[in-house]
Amino acid sequence: MDSLFTKIINREIPAEIIYEDDQVIAFNDINPQAPFHALIVPKKHIATLNDISSEDESLVGHMIKTAAVIAEREGFAETGYRTVFNCNEHGGQTVYHIHLHLLGGKPMGWPPY
Ligand code: 5GP
Repeated sequence: MDSLFTKIINREIPAEIIYEDDQVIAFNDINPQAPFHALIVPKKHIATLNDISSEDESLVGHMIKTAAVIAEREGFAETGYRTVFNCNEHGGQTVYHIHLHLLGGKPMGWPPY
């Protein structure tokens, strides 16, 4: 069965897509936790960070670079932003297709609980 995010990639489920290239797609989170909250998702299905192989390293680097490019484009690169990968239950992962959260547009606290 395709993951929820594969269905978005395949346009089987609608989403507000804000960036796409041959490796990744980015779209607005349906339940935003900041004025700007998008998810950067690889087109290759990888369930969790634990499933990343050495051949995926450049893909994951590209996800992070894409987050920085979007932050610049959205105008909050200089004020700052938060990027998050959640992994498995204790990490708060709910969709088992890796994704990088990009949150911006307000100051964020630390620690995140
Ligand atoms: P996780 O908890 O796995 O780190 O993050 C999953 C994220 O996906 C959550 O922030 C949630 O709001 C978002 N999400 C879940 N279902 C959908 C959906 O159908 N469309 C969009 N755009 N975001 C979704």
